[in-house]
Amino acid sequence: MAAQLGSAERPLRVAVIGSGPAGFYAAESLLKRPNLTCSIDIFNRFPTPYGLVRDGVAPDHQSIKSVTRVFDKILENPQVRFFGNVTFGKDISHDEIKRYYDQIIYAVGAQTDRRMGIPGEDFLGSFPATAFVGWYNGHPDYRDLEFDLSCERVVVVGNGNVAMDVTRILAADPDELAKSDIADHALAALRKSKIREIMMLGRRGPAQSSFTNPELKEFGELAGVDVRVDPADLALDELSEQSLAENRVAAKNMETLREYALKTTFPAPRRIYMRFLYSPVEILGEDGKMTGVVIERNQLVPDGKGGLKAIGNGVKDRIRAGMILRSVGYKGQPLADVPFNEANATIANVAGRVVDPATQEPVAGEYVVGWIKRGPSGLIGNNKPDSIATADAMVEDISSVTPIDDENRDPAKISTLLAERGVVIVNSNDWKKLNEYELNMGKQQGRPRVKVTRVDEMLSIINK
Ligand code: NAP
Repeated sequence: MAAQLGSAERPLRVAVIGSGPAGFYAAESLLKRPNLTCSIDIFNRFPTPYGLVRDGVAPDHQSIKSVTRVFDKILENPQVRFFGNVTFGKDISHDEIKRYYDQIIYAVGAQTDRRMGIPGEDFLGSFPATAFVGWYNGHPDYRDLEFDLSCERVVVVGNGNVAMDVTRILAADPDELAKSDIADHALAALRKSKIREIMMLGRRGPAQSSFTNPELKEFGELAGVDVRVDPADLALDELSEQSLAENRVAAKNMETLREYALKTTFPAPRRIYMRFLYSPVEILGEDGKMTGVVIERNQLVPDGKGGLKAIGNGVKDRIRAGMILRSVGYKGQPLADVPFNEANATIANVAGRVVDPATQEPVAGEYVVGWIKRGPSGLIGNNKPDSIATADAMVEDISSVTPIDDENRDPAKISTLLAERGVVIVNSNDWKKLNEYELNMGKQQGRPRVKVTRVDEMLSIINK
């Protein structure tokens, strides 16, 4: 009789697709189970792990990145292997992964942006904020984008923390950013920036903002930057005023915004202008390039779910601007042969178990964590309990799992398959080498790291 699945004689073979925080936390949770032996392979599209910790967290927020020490420890565990530079659906198919692993965890995050659906959205100069984030963080997909920073005003749409990040990076003193791991190409472009005003537009009021208070306070601490808030924008309707009693973050934000609104002169070389209850309704342009934005004043009305939504009141204004960053949320993308819920752009799941969207029946052995499970919201730490919950479901299901054929249990098989296919696998040691290279380059320049931003360059450093 075959040994029990998940025992030392017959470890549970788990594939994690994606190496961001959610995937690592799920792996960590499985490794910590006292009566479970598993062997975990983490696949990642790029040679570099850590997902949005590397590619999303702003370069001037280095302390947030220290969480990678936890992930490094997981990579050092002999039960874990890293398969960087391997794309699910291209280098390895869903069927093949099913052949070699008892359980699969999808941890691919939300790979694209939501669109606004307004005229002019595709003019040159109109970008999703997520592209700008990828660019300044040296993400290989975005490193060759060109952002023309020669204009005086940029409009940032949205009131979440991503909007705060992109606004801060545009406003910050490049000499300060030079102390961070911001991508070299972005730093060079920001040094030549002519931008004097970054106008943030929140479609709802200040009490409905999604940003958190430390991020709002940081605006006031930026050297050479004034923060402008119009006092009239802070007048709250009755429901918003009441909501402050239950929402501490919103109450603190109101306090900070009221302090900013006391300012009446703005002599600093750069300015962040935060406006509330405004939506862009059209992006204006000439010869394919944007020249400005039409904004409409909003009013708040009950949304029928106990909250407030914004609707335009017909009063419009034109603003000259050379760039607009639409920061209205990330969006999940389907994976080949994995059930997808178009309505909320997540992998179809019930509490982390992938399901057939038509029947809601679980798809045996397939699980999901992170933003592709619950949508693009929450901080890095929010992924931990969420991933543990999925790992609980996986453990609960072990007794009912149909194990893979024992002949496919040998961990060498997957490496051989990929190698035969010509896929250059970046393993944990390879990543360590690249990591040390980046850290050393950083040390020489007095920075935390200097990022390598092209995959071929990463591979040549690894293979040196
Ligand atoms: P978010 O927090 O969901 O914010 C999205 C913003 O876009 C909201 O203000 C939303 O307004 C607005 N919006 C949506 N559709 C819009 C439209 N059609 N027109 C105008 N505005 C629109 O998302 P996010 O900023 O992308 O951040 C994603 C997650 O990552 C969040 O949980 C965030 O806290 C986290 N994050 C954290 C940090 C940090 O800790 N420093 C940094 C970056 C990201 P409504 O509220 O009216 O819908």
